Amino acid sequence: MQSFMEPLLSKGEPPPVFDIRGNGQRPVLLACEHAGNRVPEKLDGLGLSPADLERHIAFDPGAGSLTLRVAEELGADAVLARYSRLAVECNRAPDDPHLLREQSDGTVIPGNRDLALPARRQRERELFWPFHVTVARKLMELDARFGVPTLFVCLHSFSPRLEGGDTRRPWQMGVCWKNDEKNARKLIEFLQRKKPDWTIGDNAPYSLKEVQAFTLNLHADAGRPHLVVEIRNDMLADEKNVQEIAGLLAEFIKENFPAPAPGAVPQRPEYRLGEISRSLPRWWL
Ligand SMILES: [Zn+2]
Repeated sequence: MQSFMEPLLSKGEPPPVFDIRGNGQRPVLLACEHAGNRVPEKLDGLGLSPADLERHIAFDPGAGSLTLRVAEELGADAVLARYSRLAVECNRAPDDPHLLREQSDGTVIPGNRDLALPARRQRERELFWPFHVTVARKLMELDARFGVPTLFVCLHSFSPRLEGGDTRRPWQMGVCWKNDEKNARKLIEFLQRKKPDWTIGDNAPYSLKEVQAFTLNLHADAGRPHLVVEIRNDMLADEKNVQEIAGLLAEFIKENFPAPAPGAVPQRPEYRLGEISRSLPRWWL
């Protein structure tokens, strides 16, 4: 008789993807692969302490709140991953050893050691692919509605210090790029103009010519306009700063990707973003 694995997520646990439906005024999709630090109950914290699950190894602190704020400013759609990058890393290819890291920044991840293939596949099926399928579905829907390629924006935060090192990273924000240098340059110049005393990373802290960013490779390789923005996580530690940075990003997007004239694109029937974002900051995690 065939036996089946139990689902990874228990009844009552939230779905893997937090799917924000905006008001559809402009062809923009926001994505945040490292928004949440939940671990499915059945994985028992991956054998880590609660304190380790609050560290940047588990998620991008502040990036989820920032994504929600930018979505609210723009009325844009957004896709956020609720579960920790240690449960599965949505920004790595399924065959990448970092999909399920056995250690991160000097910390061993006991729950990822010596995983059997069915358990690996289950993490992909229940946590990884739902994120990417949602992104792909929304991009197709927005492309079709507006008749132009949707701008795809990925938001991340990075830790002030390099892994295992003492060197403080100098950038407040970085714009990382691989194929869409044009829009990256525009955003870098915009940020330098608005914040002359900040150091804005140009393809830093990570160069996407060297680091494999699976989300971008999968969804934005074929000429889609895109931006990958990295914010130092201490810049997102309070809500006032989150709002300020969200405002800057939304202003840039509004200036450079204007909404079509009213009536040019049919309105979506429902708009629930206000309800969701009023409940900020973190009920959804
Ligand atoms: Zn990230």
